[in-house]
Amino acid sequence: MRSSGVCSLCGKELAGFTCSLCGASVGISCYDPVNGVCIRCRRGRMP
Ligand SMILES: [Zn+2]
Ligand SMILES: [Zn+2]
Repeated sequence: MRSSGVCSLCGKELAGFTCSLCGASVGISCYDPVNGVCIRCRRGRMP
């Protein structure tokens, strides 16, 4: 919670999206707008 606004996955970009599964704030490169989840959750959902 020390750096809100920064992507919680890579920490290198502004977090403009929130994962609908884990609630993580992530940037565009770590987010899948199609599924509405972060890339970490997406890997668990998709084959
Ligand atoms: Zn990121
Ligand atoms: Zn997630």
